[in-house]
Amino acid sequence: MNPEQIYYEPKTLDYELGRKLREKFGDAVWIPIENHNNIEELRSNPNREFGRMKRLLIIGIRKTHKYVENHKVSDFLVPYTSSGCSAACLYCYLVCNYNKCSYLRLFVNREQMLDKLLKTSAASQQELTFEIGSNSDLVLENTITDNLVWTIERFGKMEKGFITFPTKFDLVDPLLHLEHKGRTIFRMSVNPQEIIQKAEFGTSPLKSRIQALNRMCDAGYRIGLLIAPVILMENWPALYAQLIGQLADELSSKAKKGLLIEVIFMTYSYVHRAINNEAFPNAVELYDPSIMTGRGRGRYCYRDEQRAQAEEFLLLQIQQKLGESSVLYVV
Ligand code: SF4
Repeated sequence: MNPEQIYYEPKTLDYELGRKLREKFGDAVWIPIENHNNIEELRSNPNREFGRMKRLLIIGIRKTHKYVENHKVSDFLVPYTSSGCSAACLYCYLVCNYNKCSYLRLFVNREQMLDKLLKTSAASQQELTFEIGSNSDLVLENTITDNLVWTIERFGKMEKGFITFPTKFDLVDPLLHLEHKGRTIFRMSVNPQEIIQKAEFGTSPLKSRIQALNRMCDAGYRIGLLIAPVILMENWPALYAQLIGQLADELSSKAKKGLLIEVIFMTYSYVHRAINNEAFPNAVELYDPSIMTGRGRGRYCYRDEQRAQAEEFLLLQIQQKLGESSVLYVV
């Protein structure tokens, strides 16, 4: 990422990371702001500016540090070093929270966030797992901040607990030689290549995501796989059969053994439609009223019948082709 404009809270320059970013992006135009949560001139932009706004960088100080209980792959969702992302998946869940302001925001008070994480983990009777990547893609963020390298090594010194994060990026080189001590669970999110091309703008191709997962597994990390979000496009059975076949062929034996798979169906929303129709007028339409239904607060999900049929199909494909792995949940 090479942002032309950076909006920043001036106090961020009191932090080491803030100063490093200032040096790194010295050629960009730096615009002071009062609060990263409310940049009026960006909020009032028309939806068609969404793609351009994704190329901005916002630098602030995280004020909310509240953990949310979670019972899927982790015990807690942790607000961590960034929110938003510079890629532009048409269905991105962050758009539901941040609307068109789902650009990348970096938070420079990382010592404070890690400190809370380490203390919470150490104070617990049980081994807790912390999901640190639910607000952004930390592998992408790491290319700018090195925050993941910094976090994995420090968490590796813990005697209990795990951190985990999902990604759609293959940029794992800086992570391969870290002293992670098995305390990091790396999860790769995949979709058929045709869907990646049509709906996951700016992310890594499927083939290199699979290779990245193999490499992380070889580097001794615990790994997981997300088939997410499942999008029921016209020829979805062929696309997902091919995807699962490719995973079976290209994942290493070591990666496949005991692999835990999360399957997540797409939810879409009125806000996504409004933004995508104006920002990406030539993109595929993900809203299909013939198989989707409202789910409150302007959200849409697949109707029960289509969902059940697709779920059965996917579980059978996984069982037949990825027999050594198991499905952790389907939502
Ligand atoms: S990579 Fe993840 S965080 Fe970034 S736009 Fe896509 S879904 Fe959103």
